[in-house]
Parts: sequence; C-alpha cells; structure tokens
Amino acid sequence: MTLTWTDLQKKRLRELNCSDALEMRCFSSAEEREAAFKQEETTLKRQAREHLARLREETRRPALCRLESTLVEALIGAGFVQVSTPVILAKSMLARMTIDDSHALFSQVFWLDDKRCLRPMLAPNLYTLLKDLLRLWSKPVRIFEIGSCFRKESQSANHLNEFTMLNLVEWGLPEAERLSRLQEMAALVMAAAGIEGFSLQQEESVVYGDTIDVMLGDLELGSGAMGPHVLDGLWGMTGTWMGLGFGLERLAMVREGRRNVRSVGKGLSYLDGVRLNL
Ligand code: ATP
Ligand code: MG
Repeated sequence: MTLTWTDLQKKRLRELNCSDALEMRCFSSAEEREAAFKQEETTLKRQAREHLARLREETRRPALCRLESTLVEALIGAGFVQVSTPVILAKSMLARMTIDDSHALFSQVFWLDDKRCLRPMLAPNLYTLLKDLLRLWSKPVRIFEIGSCFRKESQSANHLNEFTMLNLVEWGLPEAERLSRLQEMAALVMAAAGIEGFSLQQEESVVYGDTIDVMLGDLELGSGAMGPHVLDGLWGMTGTWMGLGFGLERLAMVREGRRNVRSVGKGLSYLDGVRLNL
C-alpha cells in the first residue's frame, strides 16, 4: 500500500513552505504518515518562527519592501527617473490601451463606478507622463514606476488580485539599440533581484502585440515590448522605445524560495513569507 499526504496535510505543509520532495513523500501506513506529519509540521513551524525572529531582529523589512528599495537604487543608478502616479484610473485611459468590453483584460478590471477603475497596469499613466516629458526633456527619456496594480484573477500560485508592478520605459533611443537595451535592462533587474538563469522568450500579448517575456523556467517574471507601436498613435505619440514590466511578488517569491506569491505579497495571513497561524 502506498499512501500520500491527505489534502489537508498537503495544504498545511505547503503554506509552511515545505520542499517539493517533502510534498511528494509516500507512506506504507496511515500511522507512519500521521507520525511523519507531526514531525515535519513541527520542524517547519520552528523554521517559520526563526524566520520571524530574524525579521524582527535583523532585516526589519519584508523581502518585497527590500526588493523595491534595491530596484529603485539600481534603476536610478542606470539613469532612470522614478515617477509615482495615481492608482485610480479613468475608463477613457483604459480605452486608449484598446482595453474595452471586447478585450480579455476588461473582465479582470475592478470598477469603482462607471467611469473609474483601479489600474490593472501602469502603462496608461506612463504614456501620459511621457507625452509631457518628451516635450520638456531631451531624448532618450528614461522613467520607471513601482506601484500596486489590480486584476481579478482565478486562484493561482502566481497571481494576486493586488500586486506590485515595476514598469520601466526608455523613449527615443536609436531603433537599432532597442533589443540590446531591453536585454540589458532585463539583466540589470534580474541582477538587482538576485535571480540567475532567466531567459527571454518572444510571446504574443493581447495588449502589446508581440512581447518579449522574461522567463524563469515556465514562470513569467516580466514582459517587454518595443515601439514604434500601434498603441502609440492613440496617445498622440510617435517614436522608438523599449519597456519592461515585472511583478515584484514573483521576483520576491523566486528570490526567497517561496511556493506562492501570496506569501510574499501584501496580506494579513503571511508576513515576509511566513504563515502566521503557527
Ligand atoms: P500572466 O500571463 O502570468 O498572467 P501577464 O502576461 O498577464 O501575466 P503582464 O500584463 O505582462 O502580465 O504584467 C507584467 C508582469 O506583472 C508579469 O510578467 C508578472 O510578473 C506580473 N503580474 C501580472 N499579473 C499578475 C498578478 N495577477 N499577480 C502577480 N503578478 C502579476
Ligand atoms: Mg505578460
């Protein structure tokens, strides 16, 4: 007879951040399984308490907050200017991203009323700022924002309803340099996040047409795009550009060796990856 963990046991071990090997363990009897569960849960709870103690005494800031600071330093060091824009977005701004009721992302939008929503992405606000900045500053103009975005998502280890997006854009660079700059900036963000072994993959995106995804195995960490782009005209803009968007919770999850984004994201049941019902 080969037994695996019960569903409840598996759920508990996962929320305590067990390894894949532990999750896959098999047993020859229910007694053996119960004894193993008790022992493993105790060990994982002890490790969780130790992590919380280190948070209190040493790091003092969750991985997500530390990652944000590290990325800000790396990007301003690379000549990018940080901007901060509103979370509340006008419906007309979404329409200019061609996100209307026939669009896949439209059903994922959290509406506040019939004219305003919580932003599902940073791009509309960055387009708006860039339009002014390109008048005021010489090219290339380099800006980035790190802030909350909101999307209705079905349950997944890699999706949150509220997540933190990093979006960087470089506008007005020589056309021939766009791809190499995109690769360079993807590498800079990965290095700052302490993530090795990523790859770049060409993908089709519903919003941006062709995108270049930053992947770690099967997990999408970020998406990049280049212009001139069909959307630019809707914002009254022309020019060459490259941009990248990353989800900070996914980066923090990978960096910290956690099993799901929820444990490192904004939340009340976890603190810095640790489930608090210990
Ligand atoms: P996916 O296909 O994985 O749902 P996406 O292609 O819809 O992601 P983008 O619009 O490209 O996502 O957003 C840029 C990045 O933001 C993604 O690469 C991912 O890291 C992150 N991201 C997107 N949606 C979420 C979410 N719901 N929760 C956490 N991170 C997200
Ligand atoms: Mg994407």
